[in-house]
Amino acid sequence: MPLGETAEARYGAPYWAIHRGDLQAALVETIGRRLDVTLKLGVRVEDFVAHPNGITVSARSGGHTMEERGFVLIGADGLWSAVRQRLSRPRPPRFAGRTAWRALVPVHAVAPEFRTPVIHLWLGRDAHLVHYPVKSGEAINIVVITGDHWNAHGLNAQGWSEPASRADLVPRLAARSWVPQARALVALPEAWLKWALYDRPPLRHWSKGPVALLGDAAHPTLPFLAQGAAMAIEDAAVVAHCLAQNRTDPAAALQAYCATRRGRARKVAQLAARNGTIYHLAGASGLARDIVMHGLGGERLLHRYDWIYGWRPPTASGASGA
Ligand SMILES: Cc1cc2nc3c(=O)[nH]c(=O)nc-3n(C[C@H](O)[C@H](O)[C@H](O)COP(=O)(O)OP(=O)(O)OC[C@H]3O[C@@H](n4cnc5c(N)ncnc54)[C@H](O)[C@@H]3O)c2cc1C
Repeated sequence: MPLGETAEARYGAPYWAIHRGDLQAALVETIGRRLDVTLKLGVRVEDFVAHPNGITVSARSGGHTMEERGFVLIGADGLWSAVRQRLSRPRPPRFAGRTAWRALVPVHAVAPEFRTPVIHLWLGRDAHLVHYPVKSGEAINIVVITGDHWNAHGLNAQGWSEPASRADLVPRLAARSWVPQARALVALPEAWLKWALYDRPPLRHWSKGPVALLGDAAHPTLPFLAQGAAMAIEDAAVVAHCLAQNRTDPAAALQAYCATRRGRARKVAQLAARNGTIYHLAGASGLARDIVMHGLGGERLLHRYDWIYGWRPPTASGASGA
């Protein structure tokens, strides 16, 4: 798909691949310039109580417990969200039958054709491989997703840094269904980290009174569309907008936020799950997929994602952000 300048001209913003740490550093730098934001690290939210004037949150930091009072509570605490648990007593996440294997290698370790700022996606039998430069082109992020059962019973379910080795991974990309360039790339890193993928259905209601959920806590999104973090960031823009628009009734503002975001978040999560099936097709179905994608071509494939990449944040004058 033509991203780069095409994406910038078409969507009014560049398509960036960014290292998670770099994104966090940019966010921290921004809030450092805003006097009304305090960032406290190493604090685990354990419970909360809503009362007529807002909310009291109990949390633990080191060996200490603490209480914080606030106007609203936004639970942006991920797939295993404690706030979601407390808000709706949902069923636990379910194993998605896939493992993500991740490694970061220096850019000069990879073949020259893989150093350019292009996102490479390789589809194969029961697995796919994604790699792209990060850290201003100094490193290549490699992610392989394979069908798996290693964590199906929830062992270390919440971890995403389980050590894994090349010897575990390479045999899963068999020579008969994977091209040598892709196998050579996967053979580069000795050490990998692996992460069992879990999923849970999106909630119907993400807010209750002065409490709302955001990002994976509300609508976990499998990584087959590269949109989970993007959706969390969009949620943040919309919730901020709704709270600013209705300063006197936070519960109504949070309801408006959920109503605005629910349809889009659900659609993205469903498409991501469907991509996961399509990406791992093999045999005749895999061949049919390849023919269709080839027939469509990059331009038309990108066009199918216009509704995702062309999203605009809401504006004070009333544009939707849906
Ligand atoms: C292999 C892989 C590749 C991906 N690639 C992409 C991609 O290319 N693009 C994209 O947009 N998305 C991608 N995603 C999805 C993305 O990582 C998630 O959707 C995103 O991180 C969700 O953000 P979040 O802020 O909702 O939750 P998280 O990123 O999970 O953050 C939750 C935070 O809450 C903290 N927390 C948890 N419990 C508590 C508590 N009780 N008290 C206080 N803090 C707490 C956690 O420590 C964590 O810092 C990928 C995911 C995977 C697994």
